[in-house]
Amino acid sequence: MTKTDLKNLTLPALEQFLQGQGKERFRATQIFKWIYQQDARSFEEMTNISKDLRRELAESAFISDLEVEAVEEGGDGTKKYLFKLDDGQAVESVLIPIEGRNTLCISSQVGCAMACEFCLTGTFRLTRNLTTAEIVNQIMAVRRDVRESGEEIRNIVMMGMGEPLHNLDNVIPAIQIMIDGNGLQLSNRRVTVSTCGLVPEMARLGREVPNVNLAISLNATTDELRNRIMPVNRRYPLKELLRACREFPLPGRRKVTFEYVMLGGVNDSLEDAKRLLRLISDIPNKVNLIPFNEHEGCDFKAPTQAAIDAFHTYLIDRHVTVITRDSRGSDISAACGQLKGRLQK
Ligand code: SAH
Repeated sequence: MTKTDLKNLTLPALEQFLQGQGKERFRATQIFKWIYQQDARSFEEMTNISKDLRRELAESAFISDLEVEAVEEGGDGTKKYLFKLDDGQAVESVLIPIEGRNTLCISSQVGCAMACEFCLTGTFRLTRNLTTAEIVNQIMAVRRDVRESGEEIRNIVMMGMGEPLHNLDNVIPAIQIMIDGNGLQLSNRRVTVSTCGLVPEMARLGREVPNVNLAISLNATTDELRNRIMPVNRRYPLKELLRACREFPLPGRRKVTFEYVMLGGVNDSLEDAKRLLRLISDIPNKVNLIPFNEHEGCDFKAPTQAAIDAFHTYLIDRHVTVITRDSRGSDISAACGQLKGRLQK
């Protein structure tokens, strides 16, 4: 019999698991808290649970963990963690301390099937999905590290390796564990899912975990260009993508984040800024401009500072909330689009 990794289970799923074993449901909450709040990695630690039950659990279940294989720290304080997975694969997470507020960027897949032209991860194609446990374990391992200096992780962004909406069966339970009051206790307004634009999956995300933040990697303002740099657009063109954004259940005054990778001479003109504004103006929006981070084997160029400033100013002047992301962590290849784990061509 293969043992069940309890970190793959949401609280309701853990209740079911225990019930299936003829155990009391309420034990689930206790165990869940041990795992996510006390960081228990064995049943022996669970002192408010009887020895007999602990022994029985150990026969049918286990609590996985992720091994940090390497940590690199950039000049700006950005930290990149390389995690070794059980099958020898590896993924990366990036911790970005901004004014004492730690944001953790986590991965959802080994490689990625979306094949965006400008993204390093995409050039490796998909090796496999991460399990729910592998997704939450990235957070738990980094949390252990930041707690050593008395800090906490405040925000989770699913913007690392992989397309989270291409792995919803594992990503949704992971988010449920993140935001569970008995689990990782993160506020749903501090969890952001970023997608290249898988339209049906956007609807499913909205139905199954309402209230998380949605970020769309838009990156182009015409179907012609978007088809070229993001193959997903051939399946779900801009019109459908923007309709899905409009229909996404956003709580209260929350906004959709539109990420826009600026590729020098390709999509960074004022005409692009103008079209961008027109495309998103009927959706509660904010814009993240991401100057392209160069990487080996990719011919795109970073935009000039003048192009960035002009694009940024155009939008600001029209009352759009814009942030231009500085390329944090680029000295350790931890910036957007530079993650690859240990993948090889
Ligand atoms: N698959 C998801 C999340 C991962 S990518 C998505 O597409 O949203 C996270 C962000 O990095 C995306 O907005 C993507 O467009 C951007 N990105 C990818 N490669 C980049 C690069 N080389 N330079 C700058 N940003 C890049």
